[in-house]
Amino acid sequence: MNKYDVLVVGGGAAGMAAALSAKEAGAKKVLICEREPSPGGILRQCIHNGFGLGYFHEDLTGTEYAHRFISRLENSETEFRGDTTVLEIRPDRTALISSFGCVEEIAFDKCLLATGCRERAIGSLPVSGTRPAGVFSAGTAQKMVNLMGLDVGRRIVILGSGDIGMIMARRFSILGKEVVAMVEKEACLGGLVRNVQNCIEAYNIPVLTRSTVTKIHGRARVEAVTVRDLLSGEEQTIPCDTLIVSVGLIPERELVDGFEELPSWLALCGNCEKVYEIVDSVTVQSEKTAREILSD
Ligand SMILES: Cc1cc2nc3c(=O)[nH]c(=O)nc-3n(C[C@H](O)[C@H](O)[C@H](O)COP(=O)(O)OP(=O)(O)OC[C@H]3O[C@@H](n4cnc5c(N)ncnc54)[C@H](O)[C@@H]3O)c2cc1C
Repeated sequence: MNKYDVLVVGGGAAGMAAALSAKEAGAKKVLICEREPSPGGILRQCIHNGFGLGYFHEDLTGTEYAHRFISRLENSETEFRGDTTVLEIRPDRTALISSFGCVEEIAFDKCLLATGCRERAIGSLPVSGTRPAGVFSAGTAQKMVNLMGLDVGRRIVILGSGDIGMIMARRFSILGKEVVAMVEKEACLGGLVRNVQNCIEAYNIPVLTRSTVTKIHGRARVEAVTVRDLLSGEEQTIPCDTLIVSVGLIPERELVDGFEELPSWLALCGNCEKVYEIVDSVTVQSEKTAREILSD
């Protein structure tokens, strides 16, 4: 069985920073397992700028930020395995990994979990109606548009006003789509102030606060949504062909759900520890966590 000093699960901003930091702290054999073909994580689909102001003191796109770490990784003798999913992490410090139909066991001394987070789905909300085509989470829509070059729809309602929702509102506007409403249950928009200004105000996106989507209309494809004003209870039906759901992120920790408490050889990095607003904080936290676990 192959044995590593450090196993890093996930090759996003957190995993790359953690692996490099582990190397710098003296770990010889460091392995990153990433289920996507290449490293970068969510940064791969973030073609907008606003990354790196804290860490590099430069305004980079997400892909540029990722590239800086990918270049460092390539020169660091860190082993990177893409298309490789970690299926299990076991108390005896072995892991089960799957790649191209092969399942393999590996052993490790320390493990850094950097699996990011997943998006809260429409099914977690009390929204009635059928489930026609045209309902996407914001991150999925971003991947489809920015990485796969797909067209997700023309007349779009966005539910939730976190950063991903706002960034996608701007992206759709740039692509010539009609963003007919951003619907937010709170009294003001969530996310970073700069995104409110640069993505919503600058593109005149109509905003309905203290409101939520209560029903999706349409059988084969979304035809409209019902939006309820949460203060007055009044409802309006807004015709659209696409509903983008941006209602929060949940740290992805399924691999360690079975542990009552985290053993000293295992630590959480980046968005799987907590949801960070900016990548610079993810990088700093992951570097620190890797240093700490290696000094143990
Ligand atoms: C749309 C959007 C816009 C953003 N805009 C900004 C911005 O303008 N400025 C800024 O600073 N920050 C921004 N951020 C935040 C920042 O990009 C993220 O916080 C950061 O990139 C998260 O890094 P991570 O490594 O923790 O997670 P991720 O990038 O999600 O990486 C986790 C990786 O783990 C892999 N993985 C998960 N489970 C397994 C498994 N079992 N086996 C193998 N691999 C696994 C995944 O495939 C993924 O590649 C934005 C985020 C998003 C989503």
